[in-house]
Amino acid sequence: MSRLPRALSGAQPTADSYHLGNYIGAFMNWVALQDDFEAFYFIPDMHAITVDYDPAQLAERTYVAAAQMIAAGVDPERSALFVQSHVPEHAQLAWILNGVTGFGEASRMTQFKDKSSKAGTEFASVGLFTYPILMAADILVYQADKVPVGEDQRQHVELTRNLAQRFNHRFGETFTVPEAYIVKETAKIYDLQEPTNKMSGSNPVHTGVVDLTDTPKQAAKKIKSAVTDSETEIRYDVKAKPGVSNLLTIYSVLTGRTIDDLVKAYEGKQYGHLKVDLAEIVGELVGTFGARTRELLDDRGELDRILAAGAARAREVAAPTLDLVYERSGFAKPLGGRP
Ligand code: ATP
Ligand code: MG
Repeated sequence: MSRLPRALSGAQPTADSYHLGNYIGAFMNWVALQDDFEAFYFIPDMHAITVDYDPAQLAERTYVAAAQMIAAGVDPERSALFVQSHVPEHAQLAWILNGVTGFGEASRMTQFKDKSSKAGTEFASVGLFTYPILMAADILVYQADKVPVGEDQRQHVELTRNLAQRFNHRFGETFTVPEAYIVKETAKIYDLQEPTNKMSGSNPVHTGVVDLTDTPKQAAKKIKSAVTDSETEIRYDVKAKPGVSNLLTIYSVLTGRTIDDLVKAYEGKQYGHLKVDLAEIVGELVGTFGARTRELLDDRGELDRILAAGAARAREVAAPTLDLVYERSGFAKPLGGRP
């Protein structure tokens, strides 16, 4: 049976809004892949509960996440857009994959080390520890071929490949072994105030993070206040000039102009010129983006319908995969088939 190759990705609803790093590093790629892939994009609400969170906010954040993904260009007519907890096969497969994951290999995941070091491993949840296994299930349950992610997720996709190969080897050919799809240039957008750190939604300070719900004025201010360096020359050099290089990257992806072209255009000009122009571009982006998001959020009924249709499409693929996995695993089949 020939089918289009499949792409799968998600972005956690752990903040009140996604940020410019998510937009550039994730959503722009998701949108581009829709043409040539059968795409599955989802809101990982079950991942979001692995860290401290407020249940009173989660549903609202899930709606905002869906609206922002659509505003970014995810087309629910072409791609399945859904909420993770609406498709129970993710959690069911994750449990099975727990059984083929080594404690040692799970312990080597650097994201857990990073995220748990903040509060100390004593207080980190076991859910945060097994998060990469749920992520492997998210990917494998759709037999995904490509997983568009930022650099921070490379190790988790590598674990997913190992688990798929191990399962196939032990229990017979079952899973497609997926590949990470990381666009080198935009894999990491940096914090505007600390340009050697990744722009991150979970950073408690948002002066260096452009939220997609920022007003054009707020966004412009953040760009104009971006930390640069004590030189004056505008050139791309991530090591020596991380701040300026980050601004050039953002400018380049948002306009489609190459970095070389930008460096030539700004020859002899000052950092201020670059910032003012980029502030306008980013301001315009969040302006249109915000208006579209609010429009979508005003019609919850329509969002509910989109997410229900997305979950139904997702289950058409996820349920048969899980069935095969249960069979391969040796589970006895209940009378009348599996629920
Ligand atoms: P956290 O910092 O809490 O992990 P996050 O901002 O990284 O949150 P995620 O839900 O982990 O958000 O990531 C969603 C997607 O966005 C992933 O594909 C991730 O690789 C990508 N992404 C996140 N931050 C950036 C960034 N600064 N630059 C490029 N891509 C990013
Ligand atoms: Mg992350």
